[in-house]
Amino acid sequence: MAGVLTADECAAPLARVSGSDLQVPLVQGGNRTYVNFDYAASAPALSQVTDRVAALLPTYSSVHRGAGYASRVSTACYEKARESVSRFVGAGEDQVVVFTRNTTDSLNLLAGCVPGSTVVLDIEHHANLLPWKNSRVVRAADTLAETVQLLVAELCSRPTALLAVTGASNVTGEVLPIAALAEVAHRCGARILVDAAQLAPHRRIDIEAWGVDYLVFSGHKLYAPFGAGVLVGRPDWLDAAEPYLAGGGAVRNVTVDSTLWAPAPARHEAGTPNVLGAAALATACDVLSDLDFDRVAEHESALSARIRAGLGSVDGLEFLRLWADVPDTVGIVTFTIDGFEPGEIAAYLSAEHGIGVRDGRFCAHPLLERLGRPTGAVRVSLGLGSTSEDVDRLVHAVCTLVDGKRAWIYVKEEGQWNPVPETRFSPDAQV
Ligand code: PMP
Repeated sequence: MAGVLTADECAAPLARVSGSDLQVPLVQGGNRTYVNFDYAASAPALSQVTDRVAALLPTYSSVHRGAGYASRVSTACYEKARESVSRFVGAGEDQVVVFTRNTTDSLNLLAGCVPGSTVVLDIEHHANLLPWKNSRVVRAADTLAETVQLLVAELCSRPTALLAVTGASNVTGEVLPIAALAEVAHRCGARILVDAAQLAPHRRIDIEAWGVDYLVFSGHKLYAPFGAGVLVGRPDWLDAAEPYLAGGGAVRNVTVDSTLWAPAPARHEAGTPNVLGAAALATACDVLSDLDFDRVAEHESALSARIRAGLGSVDGLEFLRLWADVPDTVGIVTFTIDGFEPGEIAAYLSAEHGIGVRDGRFCAHPLLERLGRPTGAVRVSLGLGSTSEDVDRLVHAVCTLVDGKRAWIYVKEEGQWNPVPETRFSPDAQV
C-alpha cells in the first residue's frame, strides 16, 4: 500500500546510480553530497547501464553493413535491444520498436505518419502538443472524470485518427487512466499514443493489456543517458508514411530514378544509428523489467508523502495539482511559495544546500497558465536513487529559507537567479 513505508524503510536507494556520492561545492564554503531531485528532467545512469556501455566499447563498430567481427557483434546487440524494449513495455509480436533520439523525436516521427487529425489535452508537455499537424486541443476540466467525458465528446464529434496523451504529467506527476482512455479512443474509431516519458521510469507498462497503439519514451529519463529514445507501435501507419529521414539504411534498393523504401523500423532509422544508446536503453529496460514496481511505487509514494508532510505547513507554500480524483501520482512534487520566485528558491537550494531541483514552466506553458502559475514553480522529482535523508535535507533547507535564515544574497540577472558573490565556480574551472 502506497505511502506506508517509514523513513528507515526509505533510507536506502532502490538502485545504484551514477553520481550518488558526488560532492558539490557550497557557496558559503565546503562541500556536500549532491541531492539529485531532478530525475524528471534527466535521470542518472544505472550502474548496470554504464558497465554495459563500457563493456561494449571494444566491439563498437558499424551496424548492418559490416562483415567484421565487431560489426556483427554491434549489429546483433542493436537488433537485440529491440527485444528488451518490447519486453519492457509488454508489446505484442506485431509491434515494432523504432530507435530515435528521445521522446520529442519519437513524437515528431509519428506525427509525420498519422493519416488524419489528432486530439490532445492542454496539460501536455510541448513535445506532445506541438508536433501534431492537424490537432484539436481539449481543455482539461476540474476533475479527471469530467476531462475524460470531454475527450469522449471531442473524439466522437468528428473523425479522429489519434488521441495523444501523457502517461503521467511532467508537472504534477498525476497518472492518467491509460487503459480507460484506450478504450474510449477505440470506441470513437481513433488510435491512442501514450507519451510515457514520465510514466516508464515509475510504473510497469503493459501496452498490449492496456490496448495502447503507440508508446514513446526517452533513455535519458530511464537511467540510460546515452542519447536514444524509442517509438513502439503498430507498423501499418509507419510503413505507409514517408521515411522520417531519407538516406542510407532506410531503403531496399535505389536507382537514379526510383527508391524502394524498407518497412519500419529501418524505414525511419536512416543513417548510422546510436548503437551504444540503444544498448544502454535496452540494459535499463532489462534491469527495470526485473524490478518490483510495487516496491518502486511504495518507495516514491512514501518519499513524496514525507516531502508533503514536511513542507505542508510552510507559510505560503502551495502544491500544484490538476485533479482531486486522480488515484496515482509518480514521484513528482511541485510547489510555489508566496514571496519567493521559483528560480530564487532553486538557486538557493543549489548554492547553500547542494540540492538540484528544476524551476520554471517545465515545457508545459498552457498547463502552468491553467494552474494559475504563469511564472512557474519548483519541481522536486524523485527516482531510484532517492532516500529519506535527501527528503529531510530538502525540508530543512526550505524551512530555513522561509524562516529568513538564508546565508547568501541572490540576484536575478537576465532572467536567472544567482548567488552574489558566486564562489563555487572559478572562471578557469574545468567542467
Ligand atoms: N514528454 C514529457 C511528459 C516529458 O516530461 C518530456 C521531457 N521533460 C518530454 C516529453 C520530452 O522528452 P525529451 O526531452 O527527452 O525529448
